[in-house]
Amino acid sequence: MSARIIDGKAIAQGHRAELAVRVERLREAGIVPGLAVVIVGEDPASKVYVRNKSFACEAIGMRSQVFALSADTSQAQLIAFVHRLNEDAAVHGILVQMPLPPPLDKHAVIEAIAPEKDVDGFHYENVGALVTGNPAFQPCTPWGVMMILEHEGVALEGAHAVVVGRSNVVGKPMAMMLVAAGATVTICHSKTRDLGAMTRQGDILVVAVGQARLVTGGMVKPGAVVIDVGVNRLPDGRLAGDVDFDSVAAVASRITPVPGGVGPMTIAMLLANTVKAAERVAGLAARMDTRIA
Ligand code: NDP
Repeated sequence: MSARIIDGKAIAQGHRAELAVRVERLREAGIVPGLAVVIVGEDPASKVYVRNKSFACEAIGMRSQVFALSADTSQAQLIAFVHRLNEDAAVHGILVQMPLPPPLDKHAVIEAIAPEKDVDGFHYENVGALVTGNPAFQPCTPWGVMMILEHEGVALEGAHAVVVGRSNVVGKPMAMMLVAAGATVTICHSKTRDLGAMTRQGDILVVAVGQARLVTGGMVKPGAVVIDVGVNRLPDGRLAGDVDFDSVAAVASRITPVPGGVGPMTIAMLLANTVKAAERVAGLAARMDTRIA
């Protein structure tokens, strides 16, 4: 194996320590940053994610509230619930855990969240701000990837970045952020012909597909920086990324593991967005301020 393994857990820990200092400053000003997480139904994976987010908030002195609504909650009830959170001054960030049980319409629910509390960065207003180069809240996972690349000192200007996946949650905002940073970006998806021919061009390769070990060593440019966003549960219960770790690590220069790569950064960026939302309320942060620390 030649690639250096990027320790996303350690990078996230560094961000969390800086955020804890900002939380303390807010608390001294009488504001406890608060995240409200709404979960609808009984999806076991969602419950684990929500619990992890909640622990992470509390570990840095933030307040977290989890609202578990039953699977038969109607669209109108859910939207009314979100509106109440919009009005609650103790809530600085609102997150509605996806997926929602059918027939709930995720788009309508996301648009019901006040943009200034949309710490997932999924509201049209925040997506538009990202695309037009004036980001407010950036989606947590791709922002976490950008922070990993920054931490690793990866030069983005002029580099060819290949993103596999075009979801609203990861692939598309990821591509936007890389373009904004000066990379030339190729986006691949399930209709891409000859995926390997595309991925082999990437100096930076970000994979967010949801298929275990889809990307193998022969699909990677020697020396590339490989970021594996995928989280897949194998039949034996273990987690695997979208990248075949061993074969890719033999050709890449750096690689994120699963678990312990992008996942911890996603949570750290959620905390960062919530702290930022509280700082705006307190008049401590400008809209343009997208720093972590
Ligand atoms: P989606 O299912 O929304 O999107 C998957 C994307 O992959 C789609 O654009 C799809 O293409 C594309 N795709 C599917 N099959 C192929 C293929 N064979 N070749 C090329 N592209 C393909 O998933 P998400 O973006 O939400 O998540 C992707 C992965 O990242 C999942 O494993 C998820 O669990 C993980 N994830 C991890 C996070 C973390 O914090 N670590 C956070 C969020 C997600 P098309 O659009 O054509 O269908």
